[in-house]
Amino acid sequence: EAGARELLEIRGLQVVFDGFRAIDGVDLTVRQGELRFLIGPNGAGKTTLIDVITGLTRPSAGSVRFAGTELVGRKEHRIVRLGIGRTFQTSVVFEELTVVENLDLAATFRRPLWALLRRRRGVSDTVAEALETVGLTDLAERPAGVLSHGQRQWLEIGMLIAQRPRLLLLDEPVAGMSRQERERTGELLTTIAEDHTVVVVEHDMEFLRRYASQVTVLHEGRVLVEGDVAQVRADPRVQEVYLGR
Ligand code: ADP
Repeated sequence: EAGARELLEIRGLQVVFDGFRAIDGVDLTVRQGELRFLIGPNGAGKTTLIDVITGLTRPSAGSVRFAGTELVGRKEHRIVRLGIGRTFQTSVVFEELTVVENLDLAATFRRPLWALLRRRRGVSDTVAEALETVGLTDLAERPAGVLSHGQRQWLEIGMLIAQRPRLLLLDEPVAGMSRQERERTGELLTTIAEDHTVVVVEHDMEFLRRYASQVTVLHEGRVLVEGDVAQVRADPRVQEVYLGR
């Protein structure tokens, strides 16, 4: 697409754990404003790839460039500051705090220290915007501990948005959700992708069919197929390793 700029450029990536190649020569380009799905069977290397991008795992070879900056060798908090946010499979929500307090805390992570020391009145624009985007405005003053599973996942996405990242990495955002919650999450991802670049690790094929545009299939640490969702689903190699269960 003309004018679309590369935000994330991964080249020749390799991750070796005790002689085992978890990532074995991956090239991946994500353009600004893309909603990219990353799929593949268990052990394909999806989480490892996210861990490398966010500085949690150091690759044995290759480069990861974000908006032109090399990320390999940088510390996690530096990468967050460059504008990359991720969700984890374990919850990072403080149950005793209200929804809005959780969002406020997340937003604070990216503020300078003097902003922490200054008394704040009311809800910042960033937090109000995040609340509205994830549809939790009515629950703003409730403790996060009373939220349903789905609402908690949306809060975590809201906490990411409140940090104003340029790139969001979401690890299985619809895991354990009801059908209704999945639909709402799909709509939420579509909304978020209007002004962010989003990479989603997801297993659910039906969800993919409805909400994905660009898909990258990983298999045994390599990119097996890449393309739009219809193309990828129709590919016999994908059916063999991924759908042919
Ligand atoms: P996926 O997220 O696609 O299920 P992972 O990235 O979690 O796959 O894992 C890819 C492979 O790397 C798996 O075979 C896994 O067992 C292995 N692996 C992941 N993390 C480690 C680690 N810290 N030490 C050793 N092996 C690991």
